Amino acid sequence: MMPDVVIIGGGYAGLSAGALLAHQGFRVQLLEQDKSLGGRARVEERDGYLLDYGIHSHRLGENGPLARVFRELGDPVRFANPRHFTSYIFDSNRLLELPDTMAGLLSTPLLNPLEKLQFIKIILKMMLADLDRWYPEKLSAFLRLPGMTPGLEKISTLLGLTVMAENPEEASAGEVIDIFRRAVFSRRKVGDPVGGAGQIINTLEKKISSSGIINLNTRVTGLEFASGRVMAARTDQANYPARVFLFSAPINGLTGLVPENLLPPPLIEFANKLTPTSGLSLDFGLPAPITDIKGGIFNLDPVVIGRFPSNIDPLRAPPGKQLATWLRPISFPVTKEKIKEAEEILRVVIEKIFPGFFNRVEWERKLVHPVMDGLSMKPGQDFSRRPGPAIPLIPNLFLAGDTIRGHGSGGDIAFSSAISASDIIRKYLLNSNR
Ligand SMILES: Cc1cc2nc3c(=O)[nH]c(=O)nc-3n(C[C@H](O)[C@H](O)[C@H](O)COP(=O)(O)OP(=O)(O)OC[C@H]3O[C@@H](n4cnc5c(N)ncnc54)[C@H](O)[C@@H]3O)c2cc1C
Repeated sequence: MMPDVVIIGGGYAGLSAGALLAHQGFRVQLLEQDKSLGGRARVEERDGYLLDYGIHSHRLGENGPLARVFRELGDPVRFANPRHFTSYIFDSNRLLELPDTMAGLLSTPLLNPLEKLQFIKIILKMMLADLDRWYPEKLSAFLRLPGMTPGLEKISTLLGLTVMAENPEEASAGEVIDIFRRAVFSRRKVGDPVGGAGQIINTLEKKISSSGIINLNTRVTGLEFASGRVMAARTDQANYPARVFLFSAPINGLTGLVPENLLPPPLIEFANKLTPTSGLSLDFGLPAPITDIKGGIFNLDPVVIGRFPSNIDPLRAPPGKQLATWLRPISFPVTKEKIKEAEEILRVVIEKIFPGFFNRVEWERKLVHPVMDGLSMKPGQDFSRRPGPAIPLIPNLFLAGDTIRGHGSGGDIAFSSAISASDIIRKYLLNSNR
């Protein structure tokens, strides 16, 4: 029987939308070009280690969009980490606790008393700000700092990093404020699923497979149209007809599938100009633990972020061993020179934080990420500018993924856009004749 929905792409967004629609009783067929599911969050097993694709944590824990997808499926996400754990900043050759409470802020040696006062003013301003006014503005314009001191520089870098922007000039103020406010009211600020992204991918895959079909190694090369509607997704082997189609990959991939004259010009312009975030990550297998730090480790100048996932979730490394993952953002577009520089920085910073680190490494994996988050959260790509799930000119083609409108950044957008897309698709299917 013809499926109700064909989904193009089996990353977080396509899997979430597919699972939600399957859960509501619709027939789903998901087409994924790769040999496995998960997209940019795919998982690899290696010698008893469970490796996420770089560092994958989920902002806002139970209050985030991943948790909402799972709640709607009646299958709450299981987080490995405690409600609160301490993250660290490497500053002046020592690891200092990242102040994430008012008490921590008042006592931190990272800021002098004047800088603390400035930061409290910034927090108050963020709590009161009008988001719509600040989405299209730069974070630096919002902060309007009176003059850069080392402490204020740290604050603006940390705030930018909430949306993976190394430079506050590249961050939308509204996006940072939105995430900051949600984090203030969230008891668990970061969630690490038991088993990493594998828990998410496997749960969603099972939901779809229980009543629908997943085709791997199936690359969609075009969409077939008749009377302004999509009739089928085309691959080199077959056509896949359905009542509705969901494109759930970065939106610049859509323009290759649909004749340009059928797409609204603002959508084409947005897709063609899309700027993602990029980075380099290094994973290390360590034969014995070198630290019990559970939270993130941040070096701010230059920016390097580290995590020891097996300290939170013992499933992530064989007994007695440790997994470490480090990331350095790279400005887009990625070049050989930038990768080389990023790798050098990573190695120098890691060795500074943990002297002798490289003498204890059993194996390592290096991954270049030309696209980390599908879009950087800069003005022009902010919430107010991103396209929504419906395409004005094509009634039965919808969009999801981390380049579509949704709250948060990266994976959050993928999940929240999938919730919006599945809502609108459900309404469309219920209102149109079978
Ligand atoms: C190193 C790294 C670290 C990250 N860390 C975090 C983090 O800590 N927290 C967070 O929230 N986010 C993080 N992200 C971002 C997060 O991984 C992405 O936002 C999310 O995975 C995007 O999901 P998606 O479904 O929108 O897109 P994708 O994962 O890109 O999925 C799209 C899928 O569509 C498939 N596809 C594309 N075109 C076609 C076609 N024509 N036919 C068939 N299939 C097609 C692709 O193969 C892919 O599987 C990170 C990303 C990276 C790379």
